Amino acid sequence: MVIGVNTAEQGDPAPKARQFRDKHRLTYPILVDQGGHVAQRYGVFAFPTNLVVDRNGVVRLAGAGFDPSGVEQMINALLGGQVGRAPAARQKPASTAAAHAAAITCARHLEAIGRAIDAYQKEKGELPARLSDLYPRYLTDKALLHCPADRSPGEPGYQGVPADPNLPISYLYEMSLEKNPGGLLLGPGPTGESATWREQKMAQREWFGERVPVVRCWHHALPADLLPGETPFVLNLTPKGEVYRSGELWETDPGTVPAVLSAIEKDLAAGPETFQRHWSSELVAEYFNNLPPLPALRNRLHSVAGQLADLAKTDAGKTDGDLPRAIESITHAAGGETAKR
Ligand SMILES: [Zn+2]
Repeated sequence: MVIGVNTAEQGDPAPKARQFRDKHRLTYPILVDQGGHVAQRYGVFAFPTNLVVDRNGVVRLAGAGFDPSGVEQMINALLGGQVGRAPAARQKPASTAAAHAAAITCARHLEAIGRAIDAYQKEKGELPARLSDLYPRYLTDKALLHCPADRSPGEPGYQGVPADPNLPISYLYEMSLEKNPGGLLLGPGPTGESATWREQKMAQREWFGERVPVVRCWHHALPADLLPGETPFVLNLTPKGEVYRSGELWETDPGTVPAVLSAIEKDLAAGPETFQRHWSSELVAEYFNNLPPLPALRNRLHSVAGQLADLAKTDAGKTDGDLPRAIESITHAAGGETAKR
């Protein structure tokens, strides 16, 4: 079902909505969001924003700008049941303790895979095309490619992502040469159907540094295994061979924000041209707007917002109409009003 929502910061949005509907001959219902509460609830700050909500009320796609093909693709995938965590019905319920033990074992597996990738790369001068290429020379034990929480013989645990063509493997290899990657960009970079996963993940290192996963495991903390208040998590292997836990989106995980701040600080120190070449203020604004307040990073966030405010006063900064919104959203992530300098 398609629903349009018109929202306005001030005044009555209804007449404008009617006008827009008639002009474009829209046949779907357009709801009026008086007071902007719906926009606030869904984190909408740019227009138009497309949201795809599945049958369970879970937001599957959220993107500012006009992107009909992306929306269509996501809807088709959802209708075909091809995107999302693997169906829980197939999963036998396990005890929470067993689930936690499995996560610890899985982390050891990921570290071993990390060492094998490292050895492969040292010898061949490039990353493997697929994880099965590690076996048997670099990873002698095939069992390390199976996560103990995966009840199947070996599937990536998240539907709609490329599976290894040669071996049943529980892990999602993010550095594959398959096309159509999923990931968040904070500046110009490869995207869409022509980009490969590897191209996009390498580009992400510009903004997210060491937090960009090489391998991920989606088999953990499924709803049946969770303690009250616990949220599903994913295990991520970093390029340096470390394993960290994140939410489903590692990019917006609070633990990733320090890496993003480091990258912004480094580029700002190199000069405004470097910053403006690597970052899109629009995407930065969207990114920080989607974060919860992060009091532990308050000083760094304020410092970055202050440096961007200085940049906004320069000639180069004035040409960037989205910069004020980026500053505002970074200040919002810092937890509020004391940003004024
Ligand atoms: Zn696992």
